[in-house]
Amino acid sequence: MNCFYHEERNASALCQVCGKGLCSDCATVISIPICKECLSEHIYGEKSKMLKCIVVGLILGIGCSIIMKNLSGLLFAWVPFGWMALSAITPKVFLVMPIVGWIAYFAIKFVLAFLIGWVALPIKLYRWMRIFNLAKKVLE
Ligand SMILES: [Zn+2]
Ligand SMILES: [Zn+2]
Repeated sequence: MNCFYHEERNASALCQVCGKGLCSDCATVISIPICKECLSEHIYGEKSKMLKCIVVGLILGIGCSIIMKNLSGLLFAWVPFGWMALSAITPKVFLVMPIVGWIAYFAIKFVLAFLIGWVALPIKLYRWMRIFNLAKKVLE
């Protein structure tokens, strides 16, 4: 198979979304092999994920500050970022658990997300900015 964009080159990877052949130049635009068509959708999805994290974070942070009557509640703003990082490493298993199990699962995940959120937030934001920048160059 040849690269979809460069007919003269051999494909060294396949687009992870649609399976188009990509040469080594085309496959390394961002960290996953993805073609230009799928990249714009991928970026759109990542942008809405980022927006969701920021909005949920602000609501949590401001809400907790009001409930605690203390500005340290703002620290909860990084929970969604920690949560996302945890979701990326926990296998997607849907266990049949009693409701108590789910409450415990969410409580533990929330605490862990709070503990790692301050690290996850700058890393996540940095990665997002990086792929948005890279994608901008390719998609222009
Ligand atoms: Zn594709
Ligand atoms: Zn190519």
